[in-house]
Amino acid sequence: MNQAAAPISQSDDIVAIRGLRKSYSTLEVLKGIDISVKRGEVVVILGPSGSGKSTMLRCVNFLENFDQGTITVEGRPVGYKMVNGTRRPVSEVDNASLRQHVGMVFQSYNLFPHRTVLQNVMMGPVKVKGMDNSKARDIAMKLLAKVGMEHKADAYPGRLSGGQQQRVAIARALAMEPSVMLFDEVTSALDPELVGEVLKVMRELAEEGMTMIVVTHEMGFARGVADRVVFMDGGVVVEQGPPEEIMTNPQTDRFRGFLSRHL
Ligand code: ADP
Ligand code: MG
Repeated sequence: MNQAAAPISQSDDIVAIRGLRKSYSTLEVLKGIDISVKRGEVVVILGPSGSGKSTMLRCVNFLENFDQGTITVEGRPVGYKMVNGTRRPVSEVDNASLRQHVGMVFQSYNLFPHRTVLQNVMMGPVKVKGMDNSKARDIAMKLLAKVGMEHKADAYPGRLSGGQQQRVAIARALAMEPSVMLFDEVTSALDPELVGEVLKVMRELAEEGMTMIVVTHEMGFARGVADRVVFMDGGVVVEQGPPEEIMTNPQTDRFRGFLSRHL
């Protein structure tokens, strides 16, 4: 689906990915991706391993360089901006400031092991935003309550279950007040009995109106929470639409096959 005609400045998309292409040396991983995410929208990305889902997410906060196309977050260019039809790099300062607006949670819990849960959540607002400690502490405690982890505020991450660590990682990302949250297979490494507690937090965030891009293999979450499902395969968007439509009535063999393997 090509939406490249919409001028960036007039778009109400929180995230707009247009014609995104990326190769790792000779391996072309993203072959022209177009995805738009509106405020409050929850977009679930499905696709087999190796289809480029993580690479695409990492491009959105410019953890990954890309070769062609544009990405904007709230209208601000990520990585490159177009000047008189030519793609020019955005300054590192602008990229860093943009990253503050993009919260990301990964498959592997990446909490700082030598900091308490509370310190992990306070760190961004204090170090990056220069917030004073008492205010940051108040905000962090509220967010820990929201993810059901305030009782572990003084614990170290190593003492927590994987599900608890992911909930803290979500609170830590929220502490920066992002305009969009990116989730990359955040439940894939968890023991099955811990998956539900993390999905519940994500579902609540979605219900509160958070704008989210969620890469997951949890079909129940896709069906129940997504406003739109995007199926990627081989570095392209193969199908997208409301979950009740495209998951019930897939239009391509590739998506049909994927769904039948993930029942
Ligand atoms: P997915 O998240 O859908 O499983 P990825 O975006 O992780 O897919 O990977 C897409 C392809 O890019 C895979 O073939 C993977 O091996 C390759 N790839 C990912 N990261 C790198 C890298 N840093 N260097 C080289 N190849 C990579
Ligand atoms: Mg991945």
